[in-house]
Amino acid sequence: MRSLRLVWVYPDLLSTYGDRGNVLVLERRARLRGLPVEIVEVNSDQRVPRDGDIYLMGGGEDLPQTLATRRLLADGGLHEAAGGGAVVFAVCAGYQMLGTEFGGVEGAPVQGLGLLDMRSGRGEVRAVGEIVADVDPGLNVGRLTGFENHQGVTRLGPNVRPLARTELGTGNGDGTEGAYLGRVLGTYLHGPALVRNPGLADLLLYWAAGPLPQIPPQAEELANALRAERLGAVLPR
Ligand code: GLN
Repeated sequence: MRSLRLVWVYPDLLSTYGDRGNVLVLERRARLRGLPVEIVEVNSDQRVPRDGDIYLMGGGEDLPQTLATRRLLADGGLHEAAGGGAVVFAVCAGYQMLGTEFGGVEGAPVQGLGLLDMRSGRGEVRAVGEIVADVDPGLNVGRLTGFENHQGVTRLGPNVRPLARTELGTGNGDGTEGAYLGRVLGTYLHGPALVRNPGLADLLLYWAAGPLPQIPPQAEELANALRAERLGAVLPR
């Protein structure tokens, strides 16, 4: 069986708040189902492979975010892979980069990757704290729990769907959180997002590999305990 190829894009520029955990969770949840996995880490001085199944990008400061975008535009690999149907999952800075424009250093507009119809700018206040959001019912993913820390506010265009509606926290800044189109999905959630939200990890694996067997319930205990603890800490009982 061909391995599922997870491509961790530019960890030298984009990986804040433990976003690497997203790669580890995808690997673990694939392996628990008997799917062979290969992890490819691509630093910003390396070519982005065209044949990955799931591409992941993490958060970053404004300057590394701008550098990463320039390099990805010049490389073209992520665009080629996404155009061929690969899954893209991006967090915070990575998420903003997916749009047509975002606010760079001092808020100056920077051209984005243009993979999603959305643009980000700088908000008046930094959004920092726990976030809870209810996912688009069409995606069949449980309530999201995460941590956000960003200055950016994001406006979605007509050709992209919000990933979720915020119940707590800021997200995009207009009551929605994250965005997706086809198999390209972005979110403001750190935590890391896929550690706290295994349902979201399984959505990405399903997009990449098709229907998947259940994971043994005892293998879910830690993730369920983490979710219950985090949601219980911030939501009224
Ligand atoms: N630099 C971006 C912002 O502040 C993203 C921050 C992040 O990735 N945590 O909005």
